[in-house]
Amino acid sequence: MNLHERYGLRHIINARGTFTPLGVSRTPEPVIEATAEALRHFFDMAELQRVAGGRIAELTGAEAACVTNCVAAGITVAVAAAMAGADAARIAQLPDPAGMNRCVVVQAGHLVNFGQPVEQAVRLSGAEVLTAGDADGCLPEILDARLAEDGVAALLIVDSRLSWGDNVSAAEAVALAHARGLPVILDGAAQDLRLPALLATGADAVLVSGQKYLSSPTAGIVLGRTDFVAAILAQEKGIGRAMKAGKEDIIGALAAVEYRQTLDLDAWSAERRAEAEEFAAALGTLAGVSTRLVADPTHGPFWRVHADFDDARCGRPAGDIAHELAAGDPPIYVFEADAAQGTLNFELLSLGADERRTIVDRISEIVGYEKD
Ligand SMILES: *Cc1c(COP(=O)(O)O)cnc(C)c1O
Repeated sequence: MNLHERYGLRHIINARGTFTPLGVSRTPEPVIEATAEALRHFFDMAELQRVAGGRIAELTGAEAACVTNCVAAGITVAVAAAMAGADAARIAQLPDPAGMNRCVVVQAGHLVNFGQPVEQAVRLSGAEVLTAGDADGCLPEILDARLAEDGVAALLIVDSRLSWGDNVSAAEAVALAHARGLPVILDGAAQDLRLPALLATGADAVLVSGQKYLSSPTAGIVLGRTDFVAAILAQEKGIGRAMKAGKEDIIGALAAVEYRQTLDLDAWSAERRAEAEEFAAALGTLAGVSTRLVADPTHGPFWRVHADFDDARCGRPAGDIAHELAAGDPPIYVFEADAAQGTLNFELLSLGADERRTIVDRISEIVGYEKD
């Protein structure tokens, strides 16, 4: 009996991408095997972090690496490291930041909510956020003025499709912070497919989710400067205790990074494009539905299918179609951020051909008739 049958859980079709409330991703078999194998054994955990971190760093071209429970945890412990360093007394004192620089500069357009406001992930360490710029964006001189204020411990930048506004580029923001001797933490949770670009910014710690496109068990992979990564790991003896990675997460993250090395990214990208084109063509044959491929706005090597629904011909607005899909059996989840403009978006990366067909069939049933 599979898990869904045994526990009465519904099979979900997730066309919403690496969405945490839907279980994020599907892990490839070799990574599952490595993760399961880890659970059979004891390890010296410090040695495991050191060896796995060393190998992850080597494979990704980072100076050093370690693994935390997830990226949200990584943000909190990286901020703690910026405040306390590897100093045992300071680590024990947090989240009381008395006597430490406690401000983390964040551009207003980077104050995203990934299920939790990023600001709270910062505050959990005892730090506070100093906002630079406003909803329209931030100019380099405004960011620099913030970085120059008393008590600043770090700059946090977020590379995500959730951010908004016209912000200072990551490379320029890093240069400004470094000119003032401040470390930079880069949250690139869902950006592991373009890790070389994130590392090239020169950020002191780049954080990517293991469980998003990398498809490992839940893990936050921290890549960066050797002493800063060591200070991040040192927080496990303090507030980071509740944010540590388990042996299965560390081995799973390592196995996923190794698995990624075996992937021909161009070929992978071409296959995903062909799937998206086939899906777009099939959905586009329905009356009142027109489809197009849209490149990932954060420059990942893949496309989403955007479908525009004509309310009059479909008999209902796009938002209602999304709700009917989610209420159906199996429940189908799509991006509905643009539903008010008549558009639903589909990310198909981890779906099988049968699941892609089920989505088209269900929409066809809802919309009711074939294109004439
Ligand atoms: C998903 C996400 C996070 C949180 O990652 P977890 O690994 O789930 O903690 C943080 N920041 C951004 C931009 C994200 O997209």
